[in-house]
Amino acid sequence: MSVSDILVVGAGPAGLAIAAALSEAGLRVTGLVPTPPSTPWHNTYGVWCDELEHTALLTTLGHRWSDVVVYAGEREIRLEREYALFDNARLQHHLLTRCEHGGVIWRTGVAAAVTHTATHSRVTSRDGAVYEARVVVDASGHTPALLRRPAVPGIARQAAYGIVGMFSAPPVRGNQMVLMDYRSDHLPLEERRGPPTFLYAMNLGDGRYFVEETSLAHHPGVPLPALERRLQRRLAAMGVAVREVLHVERCLFPMNNPLPFLDQPVMGYGGAASMVHPPSGYLVGGVLRRAPAVAQAIAGSLGAAIATPLHAARAGWQALWPPARLRRRQLYLFGLASLMRCNDAQTRAFFSVFFGLPRREWTGYLSDTLNTRDLVRTMMRLFVRAPGDVRRTLMAAAGAERDMLRRAALGLA
Ligand SMILES: Cc1cc2nc3c(=O)[nH]c(=O)nc-3n(C[C@H](O)[C@H](O)[C@H](O)COP(=O)(O)OP(=O)(O)OC[C@H]3O[C@@H](n4cnc5c(N)ncnc54)[C@H](O)[C@@H]3O)c2cc1C
Repeated sequence: MSVSDILVVGAGPAGLAIAAALSEAGLRVTGLVPTPPSTPWHNTYGVWCDELEHTALLTTLGHRWSDVVVYAGEREIRLEREYALFDNARLQHHLLTRCEHGGVIWRTGVAAAVTHTATHSRVTSRDGAVYEARVVVDASGHTPALLRRPAVPGIARQAAYGIVGMFSAPPVRGNQMVLMDYRSDHLPLEERRGPPTFLYAMNLGDGRYFVEETSLAHHPGVPLPALERRLQRRLAAMGVAVREVLHVERCLFPMNNPLPFLDQPVMGYGGAASMVHPPSGYLVGGVLRRAPAVAQAIAGSLGAAIATPLHAARAGWQALWPPARLRRRQLYLFGLASLMRCNDAQTRAFFSVFFGLPRREWTGYLSDTLNTRDLVRTMMRLFVRAPGDVRRTLMAAAGAERDMLRRAALGLA
């Protein structure tokens, strides 16, 4: 049996991005997947166009919108920031072509267990096949096959129920993209006391629209039938009837999974490595952007005289989660925990203030591009500008989440 440098487990956006980058870093990569790596992805993946600026990845975008709006308070907020959906087939093709040029070999199997020796790791699949590599990168999604992470109760989940379809009247104006519509006047009072949800909606052209009712984060995740009901109520209040359903999207994933143990001899990437950005739930832009640096760090460590799986995985983890990013992650988690304490009206007030912050600050917050000092400054500005009752909620969160703030100060995972 030949031993590859890397075994990547999984071929979602994270698996393909890291496999491509590792092979481009000169490593011999094998991918282990339950179905062929070209199996279509059905999730609707969105991204801010500026996150991919000056990269070949721009060619993988499908629909793009420059008219992007938020409804949080009384008035419409125009964001002046271009948003896009990936064309999944194009993104997959782009990443698979890079993998092919880099010589990635794909094997079919479901990873079940991993063991380690001083020089390599050995993954056994469910059907008993064994794959050996100098280090394993687990990119098998939010419930990873091989990585270990601490068990933490109370994980918040993003939940959404959406329809791509044809409607009796346009559910959004013109060629608009509605990032968030938190208006809830159409809901009975009783329901407005429940977790706040928003409409995410866009014009896909040719008379097709995507409308999705989303709960940003809640523990436990808001049940999908409740979101479906709210979406129907919202559309009814807009005087819009569904004429034809072309696709239904059901979405549920963890927003604040703890990080995997960073001292284990397996590296992780994507949902497996808790790379979901807590303020938004977005991950795809991040996994595409960060893959080359992580791959270079792993390649560098495998070039060393003593290169154990533990050394290589550590180098990867340090590149992915250096202390400054760990600190910022705790601050983002604190931001999310604070927002989850806000009721319906407070949530709207929060986002009115948030999108009124200097552009560099709210864009950096959503794309995770602020340095720690600027992130703290952004959070402080938001606090100062927030109305009194939101401020009180944020202060209560600071009291309740002291441990998160302590970890942020110390740069702990
Ligand atoms: C409906 C929906 C919409 C979303 N929209 C967005 C969005 O707009 N923007 C955004 O950034 N994020 C979005 N997300 C969040 C996040 O980006 C996705 O969850 C994303 O798919 C995670 O990518 P991943 O590659 O880490 O994992 P996955 O996409 O889950 O891929 C995991 C891969 O591992 C394989 N695998 C699993 N177990 C094993 C095993 N034991 N052995 C071998 N292979 C295995 C799977 O077959 C798959 O190939 C969305 C999520 C959902 C569910």
